[in-house]
Amino acid sequence: MKTKYIFVTGGVLSSLGKGLAAASLGALLQTRGLTVTIQKLDPYINVDPGTMNPFQHGEVFVTDDGAETDLDLGHYERYLNVPMSRKNNTTSGAIYNHVIAKERHGDYLGATVQVIPHITDEIKSVVLSLAEGDDAPDVAIIEIGGTVGDIEGLPFLEAIRQLRSELGRDNCLNIHLTLVPYLRTAGEHKTKPTQHSVKELLSIGIQPDIILCRCEQSIPEELRRKIALFCNVDQDAVFSSVDVNNIYEVPLKFYEEGFDQKVAIMLRLPARNAHLEAWEKLVSDCANPKGKVTIAIVGKYVDLKEAYKSLHEALIHGGVANRVEVELRYVNSENVTEANAAGHFAGCDGILVPGGFGYRGVEGKIAAIRYAREKGVPFFGICLGMQCAVIEFARHVAGLEDANSEEFNPLSDHKVIYLMTEWYDFRTKNVERRDAGSDKGGTMRLGAYPCKLLPGTKAHDAYKKDLVEERHRHRYEFNNAFRELFGQKGMVFSGTAPDDSLVEIIELPDHPWFLGCQFHPEFKSRPMNAHPLFREFIGAAKKYAKGQGKN
Ligand code: GLN
Repeated sequence: MKTKYIFVTGGVLSSLGKGLAAASLGALLQTRGLTVTIQKLDPYINVDPGTMNPFQHGEVFVTDDGAETDLDLGHYERYLNVPMSRKNNTTSGAIYNHVIAKERHGDYLGATVQVIPHITDEIKSVVLSLAEGDDAPDVAIIEIGGTVGDIEGLPFLEAIRQLRSELGRDNCLNIHLTLVPYLRTAGEHKTKPTQHSVKELLSIGIQPDIILCRCEQSIPEELRRKIALFCNVDQDAVFSSVDVNNIYEVPLKFYEEGFDQKVAIMLRLPARNAHLEAWEKLVSDCANPKGKVTIAIVGKYVDLKEAYKSLHEALIHGGVANRVEVELRYVNSENVTEANAAGHFAGCDGILVPGGFGYRGVEGKIAAIRYAREKGVPFFGICLGMQCAVIEFARHVAGLEDANSEEFNPLSDHKVIYLMTEWYDFRTKNVERRDAGSDKGGTMRLGAYPCKLLPGTKAHDAYKKDLVEERHRHRYEFNNAFRELFGQKGMVFSGTAPDDSLVEIIELPDHPWFLGCQFHPEFKSRPMNAHPLFREFIGAAKKYAKGQGKN
């Protein structure tokens, strides 16, 4: 089957859940036996979100092939259970970068290089690349970032307008997600913002086929009729996307509305039934936990869950696997000290220190880790979290008082975490180099790397495998010069690069559950298949809670 395209645009406001809507539709089509991929086109000028502040833009999601991408790709992977790659996300910056490089190279043979056709052609080729190769999916969903009406989104909209006539009506579908607010004082839903947003789309030549209305409650039939009339769509092509408590309910809600059915008919997809058993089980498991654990996340970004999106989801998945509700307590690491740690973590059944950059808040993270280690509270350190656990161990167990990471104190005599400038990359079979002080974009160890697990450790027990692959995003590494000393003091290096050159997982065997990993396991966790380390961490928290007389 030739790849069919679904273009998803958003109107009125940002944060309406376009990414989740795209992912949920993709998941439904998948349950009908179709292969699906999703691509995000981001209109900003950054070449990738790698250099963007997570506080503003949310988490940077890392793919196996080492691309730093938009957090929506995390939703796509979690809903489709298909690994995303570099191909699944592009930005205006990347598009312009490529076009300008070609111009400098003389590839345009003297032509004046313009937004139309050169930028739009580049966008089209990125979109069409999804349909190339033997593994081309049956359906490609293209999500356009931003809101219709933004100046910067125009080239993307123009590109999809052109694609529709080039690919043919039966092969393309435009879905517009908009907001239908409910005005309590007037006691009615309001359609005017939707009308305006569709007018805006029409003015650039795009007629939506389906209108998806984000709303508090399902919108009544007469309102659908009104929207259909004003927006030029079939009445049965107006759907509600209602607010839900649990994001994994969205596919089921869409199914109830007949959304995937309409998409299948309009795109002439093979008539098959959706199989929702797995989604139904997931939602019912989430709704019926047998207990509760409280996990403290000790980080810098306490006000914004978006900055730790995949982490948040992976912890929920760990809860589903253990049939417990996971309550998350975000603790600002800048406020934690050894003196007040007990107060911050009272009632917590597990402490997690996530990834991060920069010194701010690091001493609080180290204090939290000391508390977890000494009090036997399950501890999970991820990336910077593992590095902090190493520093804590060096200072308080191995007696190296000034131990630090080169990132935070380049003058320390004991740089237990340091910048490794050269290592053999098993993936590329090359010696890779990294220089301090070079460009901030793209100077990290990024993407999937193999990790060998030591039998008899918590890591090996969790994965039940000898070799795994996990995704990285960091510059600094464990300093091998301290391996022997820390080993003597009781630290176990349960995961390493296959040639032993890099430490990837550390753990403390004389603690109920104390594990740190240099990679980001949260990127590979799935709602129906929790990541082994998150499953075991929540399992340990459940045991701890029980020991405390809870549940
Ligand atoms: N700042 C640390 C490093 O660059 C950790 C990065 C992270 O946690 N992702 O190595």
